[in-house]
Amino acid sequence: MSAQILDGVTVAAKLNEETAERCRHLTARGVRPGLAAVLVGDNPASRTYVAAKAKTCTRLGLYSEVIPLPTETTTDELLTRIATLNQRADIHGILVQMPLPPQIDTPTVIRAIDPDKDVDGFHPVNVGRLALKQEGFIPCTPAGVLALLEHYDIRLRGRRAVVLGRSTIVGLPLALLLLHRDATVTVCHSRTSDLAAVAHTADILVAAIGRTALVTGEFIRPGAVVVDVGINRLTTPDEVRRYFGDNPSRLAELDKKGYTLIGDVHPRQAADCAGYLTPVPGGVGPLTIAMLMRNTLLAAERACRP
Ligand code: NAD
Repeated sequence: MSAQILDGVTVAAKLNEETAERCRHLTARGVRPGLAAVLVGDNPASRTYVAAKAKTCTRLGLYSEVIPLPTETTTDELLTRIATLNQRADIHGILVQMPLPPQIDTPTVIRAIDPDKDVDGFHPVNVGRLALKQEGFIPCTPAGVLALLEHYDIRLRGRRAVVLGRSTIVGLPLALLLLHRDATVTVCHSRTSDLAAVAHTADILVAAIGRTALVTGEFIRPGAVVVDVGINRLTTPDEVRRYFGDNPSRLAELDKKGYTLIGDVHPRQAADCAGYLTPVPGGVGPLTIAMLMRNTLLAAERACRP
């Protein structure tokens, strides 16, 4: 068997088209959705993520503002910036790029964002709204996973879902979302015993643990839907061959960039036994930014509701 690929690039493009259309509509009514991204320090990965988000905003017609702050910024200084953004009518979404430098009190910063502008969905109010199935903001990666499953008409009701990972940004909210769609959900984590056996019960298996190809064939029930959220790097030809064989494009990418990406799922073993599989890259990743754009649009639409 060779798994059907769940193509995140195509689904993200479709969602982005809809977002751009609704954004044009709103802008014509005098409200252009605006996203502010606060970037503290010079972490290269964070810089790349923020630049990608800003670029997508501009491409879809949203207003984007990046606020770079020095590494030594204090919690109070950051809170002052957020208070200003909370007040601004042209900013509908605020994101503070994580991780923050160690001197900053991250939970206090998240709590300072107006929950109605918290497009990352990390504020305790939005976590509570999600748990209670109320309108709020759903964290972008789990929302993206749901969008992908919905696009491919993958039934959740009555099916067994196993989520590997319980982080507050991926595993936990995703478990709630699956539960709200009437799946029977099991959440696994680093202390779970017999991980492979539990995973093997899943009709829908989601891996969000950050461990290279930990999910091997023995984790996967034949025909299961496998969603790979993990993003890990392979940096040597031996590693690349171990997981991808003599795949020329992977080896060429390693040569060019010094790494190639791999998820938490063993790509070849999963392709052999899963019914559906998200690739890495090109699976969940593109959906994450698409959902951030969607959340910012929703924030703007809600802000001008009578
Ligand atoms: P995290 O480190 O916050 O959480 C990892 C979770 O996995 C924890 O709950 C931990 O208990 C569990 N875990 C760790 N080792 C385990 C093991 N051996 N067995 C079982 N459970 C184990 O990570 P996160 O922020 O949730 O991210 C998870 C992965 O998803 C990372 O690779 C990250 O890069 C990726 N990610 C991707 C996107 C995307 O857009 N595609 C977005 C966010 C995170």
